[in-house]
Amino acid sequence: MVVVFQIIMALLLILLIILISFRIGRPKRHTPLPENYKELLNDYVKFYRALDEENKEAFEKRAEQFLSGIKITGVQAEVEDLDKILIAAGAVIPVFAIPDWQYINLHEVLLYPGAFNTDFDQHGTDRSIAGMVGTGPLQNVMVITKWQLRQGFINNNDNRNTAIHEFVHLIDKMDGTTDGVPEIILERKYVAVWRKLMDETIVQMKAYGSDIDLYGATNTTEFFAVVSEYFFEQPELLQQQHPDLFTMLERIYKTQQSGVVVSV
Ligand SMILES: [Zn+2]
Repeated sequence: MVVVFQIIMALLLILLIILISFRIGRPKRHTPLPENYKELLNDYVKFYRALDEENKEAFEKRAEQFLSGIKITGVQAEVEDLDKILIAAGAVIPVFAIPDWQYINLHEVLLYPGAFNTDFDQHGTDRSIAGMVGTGPLQNVMVITKWQLRQGFINNNDNRNTAIHEFVHLIDKMDGTTDGVPEIILERKYVAVWRKLMDETIVQMKAYGSDIDLYGATNTTEFFAVVSEYFFEQPELLQQQHPDLFTMLERIYKTQQSGVVVSV
């Protein structure tokens, strides 16, 4: 009996030693950023390229924080390093000048290969296949298609970027209502001005057309997302074409105070 007990104890001790040495021998938890993240950011993210070294480092840190807290799941699509980097970039760009920002209303991003058809809050026209923010049981989930995600960053000559569009919806949603007024970051004194400017611009867009994507005229929620894409993709052009919108978006995203160059 004593012998059996001793054998059991010896075995347990060996197991303990194995477990301890395994833990010690394990490398430190490594970063969720892909190995070649600097290269990917430089090659694909214009916003990042335009930053100075100090801000580039800050951007990388924000991307890393984002990726360590959010699950990215491929749905019949492989999640490649580039997809991770571009999703993180889409998340970081709009809030880059806002310190300590966290997407507390997002837990998971689903990456689809192309068009999808689900119970998500569907957008009209061609936007329906681009991306969306889940509602109901799919709260805290974002869906984006790989193709649109990549197009948004590869094509720098338009004012479209699906990832930015979807993250702006999340920012808007943070105060409890998705209405185009991100009260969590917009100073109270500007709320009425912003509402009025959105309403007036939508009326003008419907009457005369616009260089702003007409999908933005759907409602103020879409207007805010669409015009934010324009702001981060082609800031100089927006400033030239729509100075009032540009000024308000600078106030919303704090890009003016922080001295961060929006894009080049
Ligand atoms: Zn939208």
